[in-house]
Amino acid sequence: MQYIIMDLEWNTAFSKQYDRYINEIIEIGAVKLDENRKVVSTFSSFVRPQIEKKLRSRVKNLTNITNDDVKAGEDFLTVIGDFSEWANSDDVIFLSWGNMDIRVMVDNFKYFNGQSKIPFINYYVDLQDYSMEMLKLSKSQQLGLNNAADILNINLDYLVLHRALTDSEISAKCFEKLYQKEEFEKKIKKCDDRFYEKLFFKPYIISDINDPLVDKSVMNCKCTDCGNIAKRLDNWKFINGSFRAFFVCKNCNIKMRANIQFKKYYERVNIRKSIIKMERKPANPND
Ligand SMILES: [Zn+2]
Repeated sequence: MQYIIMDLEWNTAFSKQYDRYINEIIEIGAVKLDENRKVVSTFSSFVRPQIEKKLRSRVKNLTNITNDDVKAGEDFLTVIGDFSEWANSDDVIFLSWGNMDIRVMVDNFKYFNGQSKIPFINYYVDLQDYSMEMLKLSKSQQLGLNNAADILNINLDYLVLHRALTDSEISAKCFEKLYQKEEFEKKIKKCDDRFYEKLFFKPYIISDINDPLVDKSVMNCKCTDCGNIAKRLDNWKFINGSFRAFFVCKNCNIKMRANIQFKKYYERVNIRKSIIKMERKPANPND
């Protein structure tokens, strides 16, 4: 088993043909590790842009890549051909820091030859996701590669950041420090149809109350004071991403507002529910 850790740089290009922006790859960098996770080979190549020939200044500043650099490169299909030849094995696990690079690569494949899968990647691990789990970080934050290197005391002084090869080298060092066989193996994904479906799935908030994914059993409101089921006063309305209705508890004579949001992810529906007690009218001082 070998590992390939790859990193891409891209330019935001506008495709007239598709009337949308595409992240056009301008550099591919990667390191190949043997089964003991020692670097055995590296890959680094510029890609000559075809959708938009000039690089955005943001990209130039971030990467220090120049228009002349990429102009001297080969086109995407040629470089990707070289890359797959270099990678050359069925028994390789591909890794990248976050799955954005994989999505961008698929997008470039779609654009340049109509393929919607990366033909030479059979197994994949999102190294960012794995690292965050190993460092016990919450999923709500995003761990940047530089931060990870910092946490792991990886010395970056000699490395130029935000270039494809150096970023994959830093990723490889993080991987080396965090590797644990059993934990890592749990994260290996086979790149089948389901993998790509999930990769491009966009989570969305459900707005139709009759959607079968709306769990009616949670569409209620317990009194914040006594815990009894409160009575609904109006119809559910969809407002600001949540279903909302007002309730009253006949025991306590208090009014409440319930907000419930259903968000669909690839494999699950997330429910967020809040019940807010409405202000009680101030007591009449004459009573
Ligand atoms: Zn009550």
